[in-house]
Amino acid sequence: MDSLQGFFDEKCRLPSPPAVALKILEAVQQDENSFDELARIISADPALSARILKIANSCLYGLPKPVDSLSQATALIGTDALRNIALSFVIVQDFQDAPQGNFDLNLFWRRAITSAVAAEVLGKDIGCKDRDIFVSALLQDIGVLILFLSDSSAYATVLDDKRVSGKSVCATEKEQFGYDHAEVGCHFLESWNLPDSICQPIRFHHLENSDETYGQAALVLGFADKISAMYHGVRSNRKSMEVHAGLAKSCQLSNEQIDRLIDTVGEKAREVMDLFAIDSGEIKPFSQIMQEANDELGRLNLSYEQIVLELKQAKQSAEKLAMELKQANDSLRELALLDGLTGLNNHRYFQEVLETELERAGRYKHPISLLMLDIDFFKKVNDNYGHPAGDHVLKEVSRVFVALVRQCDFVARYGGEEFAIVLPVTDTHGAKVLAQRLRRGVEQERIEYNGQVISVTISIGLAASSDAGKSKISRAALIKAGDQALYRAKRNGRNRVEVGTV
Ligand code: GH3
Ligand code: MG
Ligand code: MG
Repeated sequence: MDSLQGFFDEKCRLPSPPAVALKILEAVQQDENSFDELARIISADPALSARILKIANSCLYGLPKPVDSLSQATALIGTDALRNIALSFVIVQDFQDAPQGNFDLNLFWRRAITSAVAAEVLGKDIGCKDRDIFVSALLQDIGVLILFLSDSSAYATVLDDKRVSGKSVCATEKEQFGYDHAEVGCHFLESWNLPDSICQPIRFHHLENSDETYGQAALVLGFADKISAMYHGVRSNRKSMEVHAGLAKSCQLSNEQIDRLIDTVGEKAREVMDLFAIDSGEIKPFSQIMQEANDELGRLNLSYEQIVLELKQAKQSAEKLAMELKQANDSLRELALLDGLTGLNNHRYFQEVLETELERAGRYKHPISLLMLDIDFFKKVNDNYGHPAGDHVLKEVSRVFVALVRQCDFVARYGGEEFAIVLPVTDTHGAKVLAQRLRRGVEQERIEYNGQVISVTISIGLAASSDAGKSKISRAALIKAGDQALYRAKRNGRNRVEVGTV
């Protein structure tokens, strides 16, 4: 404590106790039963005695009937309590005029009074015998005020550091000043000759394991501070959880008891603040604070759910869009590759596939054949039955082709009433067999249109790469050979197959 005294001597001039407080303390210390002297001091200050009577009559002491004299009050609440009321009152009044700077003094006293009320109520609930608990709790953070008065900008740094680092206020105070507010507060009150029963619990109120004598009082102060923070701090929810868990563990209180205790503190604190002439501001019932916190949480959850929902919807519509795009692409591809009338592969696709198949045939030394097919006298079909009938014939002939070829064969509409079929891994012989099957198939097909039967025949020109010897055959050469063979088939009487020379 010597070094702490050194700190005070060097850095901070401790405020001296108000004259009335000094007198009260002296009177009480001189004689345990010095009610007369105490009453005399208090009575000398009519405002003080009126205030003390009000406090004695307040909810804090819950007296069975109102008292109107100091002697009555003392008889009911005891000299210690009277001394404590008087002390609390004069100290709070005295520090009202402290330079405020950016320190919210009103908030400080609001917190202190709520904490004092909480300590008083909790102390009673758990059978704490400490009769000075109200004053201890009221003054437990007086060290904060002292440190602030010693160097307001250094204390602002403490608060900033605490906010940023998340460290405890005591740890940041120690870093900044070398001492925390509990040590400083205790030392300060000792310098005022306040009894150990007030000073020691203050010294230990932030320590987990305090000394045996003042352990329970220090514990009560710790919880009282947290309950007060629930009303005046920012993280009410977190503090509430700490209080519930801590009181259940340390004092075996049920959740209902704790809730009732917290609500009682809120109600009483408001009244006591009025008595201390401290602006109580807006003290909401704790149930309302929790309701608001839960509502906020609900809103957060709601917006979280909303976000999840929107993401899901976005995902679904993205998937739908992707599907539509795929379908659009597929149909574009179909449009690009298929013939609109017959559904067969179109000319462009035929050229692509023929090129690919020729390369493959070259690579694997497989034969490949090409059939060029043309409907005989198709002009007459149009002329005799009309253009739509001609279209129908084109479709039906296409259907016959598709039905008769193998899976791997590639049937295309080459243009007009002319078709081309690529036959991979097929030599001249195999191609001829298929060509005859196709020719016969079309010849035998009875195409019906509007009650009329239309029969057509086809001529086929065949060209096979295997006929090209060892050299790789080009697409144009194969088509040309097929075309020439087809021309020959026409010339030689139609409805026949001719084999071209590559
Ligand atoms: P050939 O036996 O010599 O092949 O005689 P053809 O009449 O079949 O040949 P030509 O080339 O003289 O006539 C082909 C006809 O096919 C002319 C054209 O109007 C008709 N045609 C071409 N494309 C279509 C089509 O998509 N629909 C219809 N209905 N007719 C078409
Ligand atoms: Mg024709
Ligand atoms: Mg033709």
